[in-house]
Amino acid sequence: MRTVIYPGSFDPLTNGHLDVIQRAARLFDRVVVAVADNEGKAPFFTVAERRRLVTDAVKHLPNVEADTFAGLLVDYVERQGAGAVVRGLRAVSDFEFEFQLALMNRKLNERVETIFMMPKDTYTFLSSRLVKEIARLGGDVSSFVPPNVQKALKAKITRKK
Ligand code: ADP
Repeated sequence: MRTVIYPGSFDPLTNGHLDVIQRAARLFDRVVVAVADNEGKAPFFTVAERRRLVTDAVKHLPNVEADTFAGLLVDYVERQGAGAVVRGLRAVSDFEFEFQLALMNRKLNERVETIFMMPKDTYTFLSSRLVKEIARLGGDVSSFVPPNVQKALKAKITRKK
């Protein structure tokens, strides 16, 4: 049983994230989308909300599940019995940070491999930050996020106004 962890903020999940999840699900027996409990970063959605959005959006993928984690990623990976972490690379601009993170995680635990996946080219411009900005300004995000995320964004923004 090969498990891979896909960690991130997922604030919120986008179609770019989903694209990476689908690719990983074809390569591994089990994919755990691990939502980082980083309330210190003042996320738009709480960790419970972010996890729920992932759970609902991956219902059609039988070998994908959502979870939350706090603390060191490499420790979480071991607790899950996984040997690898998947991260998405959109452009060269992602590379430097991801490279640092992957090598640091290797220093912390050399048994944990990091695998990079590139999304479909149409998703390379997509980020959670831009999606939130567009939604806040009243723009249409329907082609960037799954329907449940679009609904949650709308509800949250109306409540915050
Ligand atoms: P983090 O705060 O850990 O960067 P994100 O939720 O922003 O969390 O991203 C999680 C992972 O998904 C990162 O590896 C990021 O590069 C990748 N990612 C984000 N958006 C996309 C996208 N549109 N296509 C492919 N990968 C993406």
